[in-house]
Amino acid sequence: MTAIAAVDVALWDLKAKAAGLPLYQLLGGASRTGIMAYGHASGRDQEELFDSIRRHLDEGFRSIRVQTSVPGIDAVYGVIAPAAASEHYEPAQRAPLPAEEDWDSRAYLRHIPTVFEAVRNEFGPELPLLHDVHHRLTPIQAARLGKSLEPYDLFWLEDCTPAENQEALRLVRNHTVTPLAIGEVFNTVWDYQALIREQLIDYVRSAVTHTGGITAMRKLLDYAAQYQIKSGIHGPTDISPIGMAAALHLDLAIHNFGIQEYMPHGPLTNEVFRQTFTFQDGYLHPGDQPGLGVELDEEAAARFPYQPAYLPFNRLKDGTVHDW
Ligand SMILES: [Mg+2]
Repeated sequence: MTAIAAVDVALWDLKAKAAGLPLYQLLGGASRTGIMAYGHASGRDQEELFDSIRRHLDEGFRSIRVQTSVPGIDAVYGVIAPAAASEHYEPAQRAPLPAEEDWDSRAYLRHIPTVFEAVRNEFGPELPLLHDVHHRLTPIQAARLGKSLEPYDLFWLEDCTPAENQEALRLVRNHTVTPLAIGEVFNTVWDYQALIREQLIDYVRSAVTHTGGITAMRKLLDYAAQYQIKSGIHGPTDISPIGMAAALHLDLAIHNFGIQEYMPHGPLTNEVFRQTFTFQDGYLHPGDQPGLGVELDEEAAARFPYQPAYLPFNRLKDGTVHDW
């Protein structure tokens, strides 16, 4: 589906350039003036987390994903390493073997509601807050977490259970009104068939680049729209500026836009992909250049040969491998 997406997005880019229009005009035109984007705040403790939220607010973010360490666990998904060169979380490391992180679901379930209580007390009721469970809970644990987070009015709880077991969402849904987002590991509209028809989720998390491109994503999002389910397109830095721009044109055009994940790319990536999209005061815009608005500089790309990198993996205290 990624290969199909590459061809599909390239063809939309060419067609829009031939028409002399920004791509979103071929998708029906802008339904909104800007695209609300959320950033990734994290911290090993409350002080670091609050600092990270403040830095994101200073950078212009108006919606924030909150990830923290858990007492008794050494390294957790979503929490920026203390020695990281960038403000923005990057889990994939260039090393001969993947890094090991650890996990304890009971400690996590006890800790997370206290974090959101503190964040709400500090930053008030207005700020949209999101949280990513990264597929690590059983259905009944996820139901409990959703219920315990209800007082803190999350924008969404993401990937609360392993997405492959879609039946699990029925159980979670029966116990909590915390909005649910899922789908960054899905590849087709069929993966969502029951989840959308039975209204078991609130946000579709697929990436344009993993789901067959703009054509397939538009079908998926139109299907979701019939059930008042909105978009929340996947957008970490492993989505290239081309994939991000494709998402932004869709976000601007579709009616059932929800929110867009956004982690700014680093200067080396921006050297290779010259782009016109902008981020200001919480909102992204793809720009008005004909086509996608991103040009690949092949000479610059040739200076950066492929280097393998690994995502980490999790172990429980007794050594069992667990969803990361
Ligand atoms: Mg995620």
